[in-house]
Amino acid sequence: MADSEKEVTEAPTTIFDKIIKKEIPSTVVYEDDKVLAFRDIAPQAPTHILIIPKVKDGLSGLSKAEERHVEILGYLLYIAKLVAKQEGLGDGFRIVINDGNDAGQSVYHLHVHLLGGRQMNWPPG
Ligand code: IMP
Repeated sequence: MADSEKEVTEAPTTIFDKIIKKEIPSTVVYEDDKVLAFRDIAPQAPTHILIIPKVKDGLSGLSKAEERHVEILGYLLYIAKLVAKQEGLGDGFRIVINDGNDAGQSVYHLHVHLLGGRQMNWPPG
């Protein structure tokens, strides 16, 4: 791939890259070689954690997922479940993935929101 083409097709880095590299602080609740889970800076529930892949690999959002991402997508949900247990969310929790403008996505590095600690409403806003 030519450099010019790469610039067009690869999404720019986001604040999450800096969090992964520990260039800016975050409250990490789980980390391994593939994923990082940290507390959302503007929590929408008593527990609000973001789970992200450490390697973006084109996953600016779920709509960019390809077959090669199946393993990491499943792993993100598995870790969300582990973190929910770790956080004591035995009465339930909600998983959210915002994708694109209409969903209000603001950071273009795939992330799973884990929300809990209060009664959730439906439909969501
Ligand atoms: P989105 O709106 O689904 O893209 O979610 C992005 C989330 O990232 C929002 O809930 C923000 O509050 C959160 N966020 C943005 N910057 C930071 C940060 O520096 N630390 C932790 N969470 C952040």
